[in-house]
This record gives sequence, C-alpha cells and structure tokens, in this order.
Amino acid sequence: MYKYRQFGDKFVLSIDNHQKLSAAIAAFCKELEIKAGAVYGIGAVNEATLRFLDPATMKYVDKTFNEQMEIANLTGNISQKDGQVYLHLHAIFGRRDYTCVGGHLLEASLNGACELVVERFDGAPAPGRYVDPETGLNLYEL
Ligand code: FE
Repeated sequence: MYKYRQFGDKFVLSIDNHQKLSAAIAAFCKELEIKAGAVYGIGAVNEATLRFLDPATMKYVDKTFNEQMEIANLTGNISQKDGQVYLHLHAIFGRRDYTCVGGHLLEASLNGACELVVERFDGAPAPGRYVDPETGLNLYEL
C-alpha cells in the first residue's frame, strides 16, 4: 500500500500506485500510531472527490473529478476522533489545461505517484475533535 522511511519525527511516505490516497494515509497513521501531526506532499491522480461546505445550508456538496490531474499541493493535519485517526486534508489539483480545482479532499485514486511528508507531533496528548455548534465543523479540541 505504501513505503516509508523515518527521519526523526518526520516520515517520507510513498504511496503505491492506484491506491486510495486518504485511506492509505489513514492506514499509515494507524500502523505507526501517529495520533497527531501534519501531512503535505505532491503526486498525481485520475479521480478525486472534493467537498465544499456551504455555510448557508451547513451541508457538504461533494463533486468527483474523473480526469488525470497533478496533486499540485496536498496539505492536512492528523488528529483523533472517537479513538480513530482523523484526517483533515485539503488539495489543489492541476488539470491538463493547467487550470486547478481544489478544496477539502474526501478521497482520490492515485495514478502515477504520491510523495508525502508526515510530521509526527509528540510530547502532548493527541488533540481530539468536537462538533462546534456555530459552524457544524469538527474542530480541534486543544
Ligand atoms: Fe476542510
């Protein structure tokens, strides 16, 4: 599913081709018991589902893009919710015509490579998540 190498509190993580990106990052965090951290990287996909929270309706609108795209940037954080790995990922995808789509990343299918850095935060209890009544979001519990 992935290969990795550790450098202190950082890991270089290479996800295998044709894997699901969010699922692979979650599996990596689970295996390494990374409960708090950050993730960033680049790669390529041929399918991605982004979601947009409409503040007026408090509902997520999901949209799937079925095309070859570069992961121009993926940035996210790692925390815990209900004892499970909780990922909050955002991504910008570059299209063939060099325009971009981006947003909150639900899931994506790799087609090419995905090279990430995962930073592990140690030394304090892992932050959890709580549902903020004003925004409806799962915010950091710090
Ligand atoms: Fe988000």
